Parts: sequence; C-alpha cells; structure tokens
Amino acid sequence: MQDPATTPSDDVASIIRKAAGLIRQARYLTAFTGAGISVESGIPPFRGEGGLWSRYDPRMLELDYFLAHPDRAWPVLREIFYDHFGAARPNKAHQVLAAWEAAGLLKVLVTQNIDRLHHDAGSRNVVEFHGNSRRLLCLSCARSVDADPSLLQSLPPRCGCGGIYKPDFVFFGEGIPASAHARAQEAARRCDVMLVVGSTGEVYPAALVPRWASEAGAAIIEVNPEASEFTHALADLHVPLKAGEAFALIEKEMHT
Ligand code: NAD
Repeated sequence: MQDPATTPSDDVASIIRKAAGLIRQARYLTAFTGAGISVESGIPPFRGEGGLWSRYDPRMLELDYFLAHPDRAWPVLREIFYDHFGAARPNKAHQVLAAWEAAGLLKVLVTQNIDRLHHDAGSRNVVEFHGNSRRLLCLSCARSVDADPSLLQSLPPRCGCGGIYKPDFVFFGEGIPASAHARAQEAARRCDVMLVVGSTGEVYPAALVPRWASEAGAAIIEVNPEASEFTHALADLHVPLKAGEAFALIEKEMHT
C-alpha cells in the first residue's frame, strides 16, 4: 500500500510525468536555483514568512553600510552565514542535481545561493552568481582566504596587512562577478530545458537567467511550492512542491 503522505495527487503525478519526460529528452539541461532549494536543509530564505528579513536588518548586507560599519555588520553576518549556515547539509534536491551531473544529464547549474550546498552534494560545474560565504576577501590587498572559524573569533576579521575581510559574496549595491555573469548567460542561451528551483524571480540581475533561457527557446520547468514571478510569465510547467519532494518524485519517475 502506498503512503498517502508521499503519493502525489493525480494532477501532480501528471506534472511529474511531464517534467521527467522533458528532462529525459533534454539535449542540454541546465538548472537555476535560489534560496528555496536550501530551505529543507534548514536555511531560511530572506523574503516571506519565516524569512531572515523578519529577524535581521537587511542593511547589514548593503555594501555602503558594511563599509561604513563593519564592526556592527560583522556580528550579524557571522550569526547568519557562519554559525547558522555552517551546520546545514545538502538535501535530496541538491543530491539529485549532483547525480544528474555525474550521469552527464545536467550540464550546468547556476545558483543564486551562497551556502555551497551544491558543492557539498558533489556538483562541480556550478556558477555561483552571487559568490559564496566560505571565502573571505581582504578589502585592502584583495587576498582571498577560507572563512576559518578561528578568523571569526575577533570581529571584524582582519588580514595580515591590517585590512578588513568581507565575505566573498555579492552585497546589495555590488556588481555580479563578470565571469559568473558570462558563464550564466552562456548556459542559459545554450540550454533546451532549464529547471528553475526555489526562486522568487524578484532579485535582479539573477532573475534574468531564466528569461535568457526562455528567450532562446528553452522549456522552463519551475519547482516551487508557491507561485513566483516566473510561474505565469515564463514557466512551461510548474511543479508546486517543495524541492526535496519534487526531485524525489521526478527521479523515481525517471527510473520507471
Ligand atoms: P529567492 O528569490 O531566492 O526565493 C525564495 C523562494 O523559495 C520563494 O519563491 C519560495 O516560495 C521558495 N521556497 C520556499 N521553500 C521552498 C522549498 N522547500 N522548495 C522550493 N522552493 C521553496 O529569495 P530570497 O530568499 O529573498 O533570496 C534572495 C537572494 O539572497 C538569493 O538570490 C541568494 O543570493 C541570497 N540567499 C541565499 C541563501 C542561501 O545561500 N541558501 C539564503 C537566503 C538568501
């Protein structure tokens, strides 16, 4: 007997079958992921109910504020991105995407996330559109180092040259690294199927990535329990489930 909790309704089952069919036939499959893919790993998104902005001041991630007040911003950044993110582990969605890359099915994964969970799951061809939290960059000499906990004991962390370290991810008011932008654009223009997972579509220029793919003729499969800016404007198929559940069902369908 099937477990009702893990058995999709007829409508959802038909969406899952269609998604698996499109993925199986893809010549150049890419994925674009946002904060939603890491929610089941215990990392809340910024926006929405339970989001980080309901607990923390978003100014801490504004470049100008950080540069003017590194002593105020750093304790908050350490709490969110190092104490909290540090314990998170990849979930089923990260694992399935890594397995599809290893099998040669998924060609490129573009992520807005800075948590490094795709790498932890084994993904290799990952474009980190917003950088990542595991490296620190010295604002004076541009030295880049691992965000070792010992460096974060005394805040703000300082480089040997005396400069202040900044997490090596993109703050509000900062540009996207040129190589990440170019690689994301190329992946979007080459693909014939793009999976768009757990993104509101409200953060620019990241939200352009699925738009570039759609304009180039790719089919867009969205995985998100809620409707997003992409759902009606762009998605050819919307899987209205949490990422972990959706990928478990799609993977199962691919093997039947
Ligand atoms: P976002 O655009 O990344 O969207 C979050 C989306 O996730 C929402 O549409 C929501 O409906 C969806 N979602 C929630 N639970 C889900 C689940 N279990 N499965 C699938 N989808 C789910 O929005 P944001 O949180 O405002 O993030 C903005 C930017 O901040 C991101 O681009 C990213 O750079 C950064 N961020 C990163 C992390 C991370 O690295 N894990 C976390 C928060 C924010």
